[in-house]
Amino acid sequence: MKKAAKKENFIKFLGTAGARFVMIKQLRASGGIWINVSGTNVLVDPGPGSIVRCANARPRLDPAALEAIILTHRHLDHCGDINVMIEGMTEGGFKKRGTVFCPRDAIESDTVILQHTRDFVQRLEVIGPGNDYSVGAFKFRTSMRHLHPVETYGLKFRVKKTSISILADTSYFEELADFYNTDIVIVFVAFLKPRAGVDHLCLDDVQRFLERTRPKKAILSHFGMTMLAAKPHLQAEELSRRIGREVIAAYDGMSLDL
Ligand SMILES: [Zn+2]
Ligand SMILES: [Zn+2]
Repeated sequence: MKKAAKKENFIKFLGTAGARFVMIKQLRASGGIWINVSGTNVLVDPGPGSIVRCANARPRLDPAALEAIILTHRHLDHCGDINVMIEGMTEGGFKKRGTVFCPRDAIESDTVILQHTRDFVQRLEVIGPGNDYSVGAFKFRTSMRHLHPVETYGLKFRVKKTSISILADTSYFEELADFYNTDIVIVFVAFLKPRAGVDHLCLDDVQRFLERTRPKKAILSHFGMTMLAAKPHLQAEELSRRIGREVIAAYDGMSLDL
């Protein structure tokens, strides 16, 4: 029997948890975002449970098939499983392979990547603002530095003719619209209402941002407690009505074919 062709060009949400409490209580999973572009697999932000979510995904996602792991920043909801995912990518450390991309402060004094697992990786590349990077068929550009307590970058990339971006944790600022002007944007929206002094987007920020960028499709993710309580899919519907653009709320295990 002919083996079915491996699925290509998709994005799968291994988690949609945002910030501390949704992660700690696992009200949503925190496994990150698995991306396949023309057969190249990369994983963005493997938070706690990423390895479990890969094993439980249908079809199963094999960490040994990863070419790269990208950390947008060093917060635990984004990197809790980085070490075990490196072990997975390198087949238990027996195969020196794969690339890890991360901001410099993720590997400085209080490193989130153990020396032990760092040695397994073929390439460790420090990311900075507004640069181009590539691994296999996956090419991405980093954003400007975000307004977040640690060094944080979002990214954008292309799948066939579609441009896609991941707007990671940040406070709102106008220039976000200059970078995240893609066909599809995945927006990390932690809060329903503005909360002073905490560097995350709230739903009003997202509306302001989407009114400027007007993407074909916006996907909300990285939900904190207040967003979950307000039912993200209802908030997405409402926002979609307000701005006249497609807005959906991601859910754990959601897959997007491109
Ligand atoms: Zn976060
Ligand atoms: Zn964060």
